Amino acid sequence: MSSVKENSRKIEQMLNLSLEKSNRKRSDVQVIAVTKSVSSEQALAAIEEGYDHLAENRPEGLDLKQKELNDQRLVWHFIGNLQTRKVKKVINKIDYFHALDRLSLAEEIEKRAEKSVSCFVQVNVTGEETKSGISPNQLDDFIKSLSQYSKIKVVGLMTIAPLNASETVIRSAFVVLRKLQESIKDKALPYAPCTELSMGMSKDYTIAVEEGATFVRIGTSFFE
Ligand SMILES: *Cc1c(COP(=O)(O)O)cnc(C)c1O
Repeated sequence: MSSVKENSRKIEQMLNLSLEKSNRKRSDVQVIAVTKSVSSEQALAAIEEGYDHLAENRPEGLDLKQKELNDQRLVWHFIGNLQTRKVKKVINKIDYFHALDRLSLAEEIEKRAEKSVSCFVQVNVTGEETKSGISPNQLDDFIKSLSQYSKIKVVGLMTIAPLNASETVIRSAFVVLRKLQESIKDKALPYAPCTELSMGMSKDYTIAVEEGATFVRIGTSFFE
């Protein structure tokens, strides 16, 4: 039987190989333990291995974990689609929001947030219809429109790679996201420093790290 301890050891080994290949160091990548499908007890096992960035994808899950874990040192990420009407439930309880993909959401964040929120703009790099995210050719305009919201800080871009695709296809999606991120960073917009890249999940985080990910979001590989 695998434990979170063994799993995290394996994850660190894989990470270090990818970091070596790409000449990067461990501190260049922040691992986010995605706890959305597990109990607080399992989340605690990851915390005990030194992972203090956690991610949830539902307001109720976030609430429960924060209450049960009750640890001020934890850094909280919200991933996945967030309904506009639920913004008020989560926006002041998180450190990073990974799914900014429409202006109506930005507007609601502006209305509900008590301070600046670090957001990733979600990009649908490969154009799959079932997936949310801004298309690459609309990204510049979208980012430009965000300048009107004083509480939104675009810290980076986020994507979900196509499922069950070849390594080549996944890698090129990550490369596209990195190029988009760099092009926005180069504009030096005060509200959109865009220095970060949130990409890579259990099946593809090694590729993502090789292509420059600064945040990887790992669930299954920790807790299976
Ligand atoms: C669930 C989820 C993850 C983690 O996925 P695993 O394959 O379990 O590692 C990462 N990112 C997002 C947006 C998710 O919804």
